[in-house]
Amino acid sequence: MRTALSPLALREPRSLAHALRMMRDDGLLVPLAGCTDLYVAANGGTLGGRRFLNLWNLDALRGIRAEGNRLVIGALSTYTDIIRSRLAAARLPMLVAAAREVGSVQIRNRGTVGGNIVNGSPAGDTLPVLAAAEAVLVLKSADGQRRVPFNSFYTGYRATVRRPDELLVAIEVPPVSGRQWFRKVGARAAQSISKVVMAAVREPQPRIALGSVAPTVMRATETEAVLAAGGTIEEATRALLSEIQPIDDLRSTAEYRRRVAANLLARFWTETRNR
Ligand SMILES: Cc1cc2nc3c(=O)[nH]c(=O)nc-3n(C[C@H](O)[C@H](O)[C@H](O)COP(=O)(O)OP(=O)(O)OC[C@H]3O[C@@H](n4cnc5c(N)ncnc54)[C@H](O)[C@@H]3O)c2cc1C
Repeated sequence: MRTALSPLALREPRSLAHALRMMRDDGLLVPLAGCTDLYVAANGGTLGGRRFLNLWNLDALRGIRAEGNRLVIGALSTYTDIIRSRLAAARLPMLVAAAREVGSVQIRNRGTVGGNIVNGSPAGDTLPVLAAAEAVLVLKSADGQRRVPFNSFYTGYRATVRRPDELLVAIEVPPVSGRQWFRKVGARAAQSISKVVMAAVREPQPRIALGSVAPTVMRATETEAVLAAGGTIEEATRALLSEIQPIDDLRSTAEYRRRVAANLLARFWTETRNR
């Protein structure tokens, strides 16, 4: 292993406002949250910058709360925070299910939902949940704030609409009334990146999102339309297989991913039928 961050610079903001001013005025700074993805990049030689902004002590980015009928999740919430949140369990159990599947205890204590989102791996476990829940991302800069629908955030493989001076501060989740479903398929139970991951909501119309089967997390909109129109699971499966674009890589083959995606769709539809 290479040494970690020693040749690199780490800035320590005193507050969120201070952090945002640094992001605007101090040249390109890479936000650093739990560092679980950045550390891997540092060791792999793929780190995209040399100057970092430590978000870890910014309590303004923590907390899981209700605001009106929305669930608001601070970007710095860890998987452990999500697992321990009664509010998340009551309103978005599929996110809690996803958080339980991430890495190991150490990664769940350190890794944040904001890091998972901005890192933008198509295998990120929370991403299908947020896509199916139609979450909204709150991005903040020193000059203002904007809300971006989660389903418009990614523009390509690991590419997002976030500007370099913006931080993701929170995730807003509107009420989800239908039955929620989540399943991750990996090589083993712990410390495995998804081969295929799916989150779905059954009512009032099916909302189905998948990870690891396309360059970004994707909503299976054609499949959703078939099921909403009363189509059979066979018809829906044909639609799914025509809209996903899995690849062969070191974790799986495209063919295996196609089969697993089809099986997950069938399980979602069966398991939520009469619950
Ligand atoms: C051993 C191991 C196992 C893992 N297992 C899983 C797994 O099972 N499932 C899974 O999905 N992932 C897994 N991961 C990946 C990683 O843990 C998650 O993606 C995690 O959520 C990243 O969060 P972080 O806070 O550590 O991000 P960091 O590493 O700190 O940052 C990741 C990226 O997000 C940016 N960023 C972070 N926060 C913000 C913010 N608030 N605003 C703007 N940009 C921000 C950073 O600049 C960086 O580009 C694993 C990683 C390791 C090392």
